[in-house]
Amino acid sequence: EYGDELAEGGRALERTDAPGAVVERLVAATRAMTERARSAEDELARMGSEIEALRHKLEETARNANSDPLTGLPNRRALDARLKSAFEAARAARKPFSIAICDIDHFKRVNDSYGHDVGDEVIKFVAQALSKVGTDNLFVARYGGEEFVVVLEGVEPAHAVAAIDEVRKDVSVRRLKLKSTGQELGKVSFSGGVAGIAGKRDPSAMLKAADQALYRAKEAGRNRIDLEE
Ligand code: GH3
Ligand code: MG
Ligand code: MG
Repeated sequence: EYGDELAEGGRALERTDAPGAVVERLVAATRAMTERARSAEDELARMGSEIEALRHKLEETARNANSDPLTGLPNRRALDARLKSAFEAARAARKPFSIAICDIDHFKRVNDSYGHDVGDEVIKFVAQALSKVGTDNLFVARYGGEEFVVVLEGVEPAHAVAAIDEVRKDVSVRRLKLKSTGQELGKVSFSGGVAGIAGKRDPSAMLKAADQALYRAKEAGRNRIDLEE
């Protein structure tokens, strides 16, 4: 519209003896155009920051969908994705790959003796301890209530047992004390079952084998890490 108006104004200027009126019309049109351009710019800037805010929100939502709010660890959903990709990568590269399922021993007693909130603190403590398993490329997820899965890419099962056992030892000798109140909680331990990729057709077969090993560790008296049979 503005272009048409300019062209029309140009032709009128050539024809007219009184250019003042035409120039005035053109100035008005130019002013209107400038105002519209400015408000379009403002609108664009507003949309830009709205898009930015939405992008942040999306990222946060994606993070929340994959992490456990209590411990901050990846949740089961994130674990499933990681297990699948790690399994496929290990199979393709013919590299070792192990997982461990760890479950806090007699955790019901912790809840019963000290309450659910203290139980939550103990879960956080074990989560943190497991995050320090000394291997590269470590992935630890909260699998369920007081159960964790450690994904050890490039690690042979026997080596995985040794790495998890280090943490088990460290945890089991600590006398826990609540930071907030100084209340003594005594000792807490966990048991674990380890399985390797060899002979497994998919990640769930590994989980099943690790779970059976965990079951045997519990049966054998707890506070120990067992390798699949
Ligand atoms: P075991 O040595 O055989 O594992 O005995 P356990 O008492 O630990 O038995 P189990 O693993 O079956 O018990 C898990 C308990 O964990 C039951 C449930 O009430 C509790 N629990 C599950 N999720 C949470 C949680 O998020 N917070 C707290 N405080 N407790 C939880
Ligand atoms: Mg359990
Ligand atoms: Mg338990």
